[in-house]
Amino acid sequence: MNTLSIQNPASGALITQVPADDGASVAAKAAAARAAKPAWNAVPLAERKACIARFRASVVAELEALAATMTGETGKPIKMSRNELNGLLGRIDFFLREVDAQLVTETVYAEGGMTEQIQHIPLGVVVNISAWNYPWFVGANVYVPALLTGNAVLYKPSEYATLTGLAMARLLHAAGVPKDVFIAVVGGGEVGAALQAQQIDGLFFTGSYATGAKIAQALGPRMVKLQLELGGKDPTYVCEDANVKNAAESLADGAMYNTGQSCCSVERIYVHEKIHDAFVAAFLDTVRGFKVGDPMAEDTYIGAVTRAPQLAVLEAQVADAKAKGATLRTGGARLPGPGNWFAPTVFTEVNHSMELMREESFGPIIGIQKVSGDAEAVKLMNDTRYGLTAGVFTPDEARAKTLLAQVNAGSVYWNCCDRVSPRLPWSGHGDSGVGLTLSTYGIATFTRPKAWHLRQP
Ligand code: NAD
Repeated sequence: MNTLSIQNPASGALITQVPADDGASVAAKAAAARAAKPAWNAVPLAERKACIARFRASVVAELEALAATMTGETGKPIKMSRNELNGLLGRIDFFLREVDAQLVTETVYAEGGMTEQIQHIPLGVVVNISAWNYPWFVGANVYVPALLTGNAVLYKPSEYATLTGLAMARLLHAAGVPKDVFIAVVGGGEVGAALQAQQIDGLFFTGSYATGAKIAQALGPRMVKLQLELGGKDPTYVCEDANVKNAAESLADGAMYNTGQSCCSVERIYVHEKIHDAFVAAFLDTVRGFKVGDPMAEDTYIGAVTRAPQLAVLEAQVADAKAKGATLRTGGARLPGPGNWFAPTVFTEVNHSMELMREESFGPIIGIQKVSGDAEAVKLMNDTRYGLTAGVFTPDEARAKTLLAQVNAGSVYWNCCDRVSPRLPWSGHGDSGVGLTLSTYGIATFTRPKAWHLRQP
């Protein structure tokens, strides 16, 4: 068997090594999940819900240790790790509350001895290939509703959040989910590729566009249900009538929270020329107040960059922006190691010839561009191949709604940003992906409708 080394991105130290899967063990796990699936589907929904409720209780009981594990392997500031785990509880509650209604068989016609019904059956064996940036959120968005609706799950945590993924498996099993109904699969991209090659009924992926495109290409001819939650280059427009201080504080947080490593991080800011300078001053004030340091420290706001190769991406965006005439207002370089550190970075005088305004940065870096008004802002917001979220700051609700209706994005925000709700569908347009998680649609997506035509003799 292979091994996977787990490193602390804040110190570069080796945390541990864990056994990893290979082609043969992946095939064996997929076969075990397939064999286990019918019995799990036969378990009454109330018992499946009780398992997930016990899982929730164990997350609460172990919250501090789980937060420390996540911070250790991802570099996420400890307060944000706690926030993620606390946020998870509300998502689980939502799924527990809503799942019954999604599984009720509907009678859509009954006349003259003929009855027509829609039954909602599980997909079967579902693969979840996951990301590291919010491992509890993006994992549970898939496996909680998948398990509740009667599927078996093969869950591959990111190689950068494996200890967290193994903790999920331990807690689910202790809560009563059979070992072969939720199986953790450990390893990097090659293990993900081996997993997608198995006989499976659905693949739910969270990660980069580049990997998502490879998976889509491989699965295309196989008729396997595929969902892809991918990256973004999320814009926000600050109108001239916005509260400058509130908008600056909210957007600095939206751009830099989790060290800028959120799928819905604010990645581009457009500011009306009338308030541009005041906004930039307030934004820089906020960013300069962010404490960079040990992710385990209570007052740390900016932690380590999780993946070392991302530092080179950030450096390349900085060099490209500078070469094309942007003004560096703060940061702009790696911070001394050991570990992966990048200074919070703000550019102004940016434009769309720069990578900084076109490609996902996924780090603590942001470009602020001056615009002449609403038409230019909308044009620039839509000048992207992505479409995950977009926002507008203005006190004028009608104006915000008019603007946001014209923006091509799965989620839109008025006077807020970087926000996800279990009650609303989470989906991307364009290269941000296909399919969705969360909301009642994010439960139904783990089922398929079976049509019953029933004639009385
Ligand atoms: P990634 O694409 O590098 O890896 C994601 C997963 O895919 C990992 O588990 C990895 O091991 C696996 N993988 C890699 N190569 C593979 C292959 N050839 N076949 C199968 N699996 C393979 O992404 P990441 O660095 O883990 O995550 C960051 C990205 O995820 C960002 O682009 C971010 O925007 C995106 N993201 C999107 C959402 C969303 O909801 N839309 C949420 C979180 C993260």
